[in-house]
Amino acid sequence: MIRPSIVFATLVLSAASRLAALTVNTEFEGGNADVVSNTADTVRIMPHLHEGRGWPCWWYLEIGGAEAGGELTLEVQAQNKPFREAMVLANTWCQPKHAWISTDEVTWTPTETPGVLTSEKIMRYRIKAPAASFRIAWGPPFTPKHAAALLNEAKQKLGDQAELFELARTRSDRPVQGIRIGAMDAPHQVWVQARQHAWEAGGSQVGRGFLQWYTSDEATSMRANTCIHFIPIMDVDNAFLGAGGKEAIPRDHNRDWATQPIYPEVAAAQKRIQEIQSRVGLDVFIDLHNPGASDPIFFFGPFAFERMSTSQQANYNRWIALAAQEITKPHPVQPTYRTASYVKTEEERGRMSSGWVRAHTSDSTLSVTLETGWNSPKMTIAGYGEVGAGLGRTLRAYLKP
Ligand SMILES: [Zn+2]
Repeated sequence: MIRPSIVFATLVLSAASRLAALTVNTEFEGGNADVVSNTADTVRIMPHLHEGRGWPCWWYLEIGGAEAGGELTLEVQAQNKPFREAMVLANTWCQPKHAWISTDEVTWTPTETPGVLTSEKIMRYRIKAPAASFRIAWGPPFTPKHAAALLNEAKQKLGDQAELFELARTRSDRPVQGIRIGAMDAPHQVWVQARQHAWEAGGSQVGRGFLQWYTSDEATSMRANTCIHFIPIMDVDNAFLGAGGKEAIPRDHNRDWATQPIYPEVAAAQKRIQEIQSRVGLDVFIDLHNPGASDPIFFFGPFAFERMSTSQQANYNRWIALAAQEITKPHPVQPTYRTASYVKTEEERGRMSSGWVRAHTSDSTLSVTLETGWNSPKMTIAGYGEVGAGLGRTLRAYLKP
């Protein structure tokens, strides 16, 4: 028989725990949120503004004190302070259709129903708590620790064929990690990098799919005569902090490919690319981005295509035709290039990585940017991975003699 005093104590305790506000923790890699308000069933946040570190759009937090299986609401509003001069970021950038949930940081699933935008521009996500504490984010996260795990996995699989390297140490002294697979003097040389804009986590997810494909049996013959240089995260500092990076002060990574870069990792990439070029020539340079909400999957091609030589034009045409055949899931890649016409001056175009590479390599180098959209529940880790595998197959077809 249960004594009445114990029953009383249990009732008081459960009533108290139901009324306790949900907790928020962001003390981990990539964690980023300011709590605006929190109650027992609703948390409202906005992305924390890291001054001078670009767009405040990425958010990633751990909610605690929930009842497993119970319903709660996450509300997301825009950061209201300017990120640069008088520029305040529009709410849409921090309000994907679905929020992404995980209990193990391996599997990330979108909320069952899309968020609902209120007339005050607050996005409300209804969530069934998978556990008392769980993580929730703008999209499937990819932080430096994921990068290290991915590179180590590739190294373990390929052994002597692969070499891990530190590209540089960031301004905050964090390592920027990379992997080289293949011989330094292999006839084909390829450079792939992601995350010059830290919030564009999907770029690294595409990179993960690419590297996993490249280390698979499907790529065995390609590995025999190719050397891949791969950097999963360029802007490590901002990816670590959960800052956006884009339009950082005075400039972001993809506007830093100048004679004197601000970021050590950009300077180191330039140096290595020039070494590859002078040793054997760089065949392909690919920069991975993940910028637009409703954008499809597409490539940015070169400015002034019509001024390129006939053989250069033929290479670019062949590349996009092969990509259209090979990148079909979860959405097909667009069969024509876009040009980043929003970048107005030649000087600024020259400070973008793809432009810098074109200017510092030869006519036989192909330099493109692969852009994936993010606002779709199909853009899961596996979905981005399909794009990466398709990119690998495009490369294999393109480099075939
Ligand atoms: Zn970008």
